[in-house]
Amino acid sequence: MKPINYLKAISLLCALSFASCTKDHEANQKELQKDGLITLKSGVVVEKKGANYFWEGDILLSETQLKNLDTYGQLQPSKPDYIGAVKNEHPAFNVPFVDPNGNRAIPRAFSIYPTAYNLWAMVRIIYGSNLTTYEKQVIQSALQEMEASTNVRFYNATCEPLVDPTYGFTYPNIEFWSTDGADVSNSYLGRVGGVQRINLADFAFYGWDNHVIIHEICHALGLRHEATRIDRNSYVTVNTSNLTASGQAQFAIPSTNYYQVGAYDFTSVMGYSSYTSSTSIVNNTSLPMYTKLDGSSITQGSTVSASDRSWINYFYLPYIARSDVYAELAPVVYKSDNTVMTASERLDLQAYLNNGNPTPPNCCRITNDLGKFTCP
Ligand SMILES: [Zn+2]
Repeated sequence: MKPINYLKAISLLCALSFASCTKDHEANQKELQKDGLITLKSGVVVEKKGANYFWEGDILLSETQLKNLDTYGQLQPSKPDYIGAVKNEHPAFNVPFVDPNGNRAIPRAFSIYPTAYNLWAMVRIIYGSNLTTYEKQVIQSALQEMEASTNVRFYNATCEPLVDPTYGFTYPNIEFWSTDGADVSNSYLGRVGGVQRINLADFAFYGWDNHVIIHEICHALGLRHEATRIDRNSYVTVNTSNLTASGQAQFAIPSTNYYQVGAYDFTSVMGYSSYTSSTSIVNNTSLPMYTKLDGSSITQGSTVSASDRSWINYFYLPYIARSDVYAELAPVVYKSDNTVMTASERLDLQAYLNNGNPTPPNCCRITNDLGKFTCP
């Protein structure tokens, strides 16, 4: 399989001697358009389906992320100066997670350097037009469940313009969308800019079980799969002989820009169950994809686990939607160890975020109803 950047090289060659290579160019473009697994220059394997490229099965790649994966084997070219949502040294904020060796570190696994450019302040969401009311209600339950146990906050932008009327840029938004019968769910990793869909299969809505939706939202917040931790072979046995080529690509371990803290989390919503019904991933659906080292099965977490929460609480703050520039925090603010800030810690942090003013003016809150499904 050919590296995807052949297209550029071919275009350049053809520009230099157009007549002689038009046919080759066309043939190569057809080759490039074929669906299936593609080994990038960096060795990372992605899967092309139609116009989209997927990583680890259900992670959609933006054009920039794909290019970086091809060239650098990671989603960003290099490590930025600062990792985190808000640059501050406030003692009550971003309490560092301390690993068993006493090292201060960012908790949990991630393979994109989390910065203000790929995290969200508030997560703007849109309910897609092909969702039923029931499906919107199940999504709403997932959003509310996450808000109740973490610092993440969602802003329902369903009836609002997609483009900023003054500056003309497209707002970042997650649009929830039903794949209407297609048996797949997927999401982008982190905030990629503009409208980014979370596509949801029918099974994501069965019986009010919203863990598939929570899993895909966690990707959009920045979390990756537990089974691709670099130390996962110390915790699980991957049943390679039962995995298809696509399945094996999904269990590839990244080699760069990856970190985690603590032991493998078998309760994470980002960890798949041992068994799958997908014949594109396993040869035999009655055999596992992977198990614990003792051979016992793994069951995907039904909601965000303690370490999932810890990661989210490290990088996000529970902002209240306002029309002015003040940062106002919800009454409950979690530290990254999942304990709740005291009232004075919260006020202290709010002052820090507002250049010393702990109390934003008593105005300017924007109504934010996650249950608003239709526009007037
Ligand atoms: Zn996933």
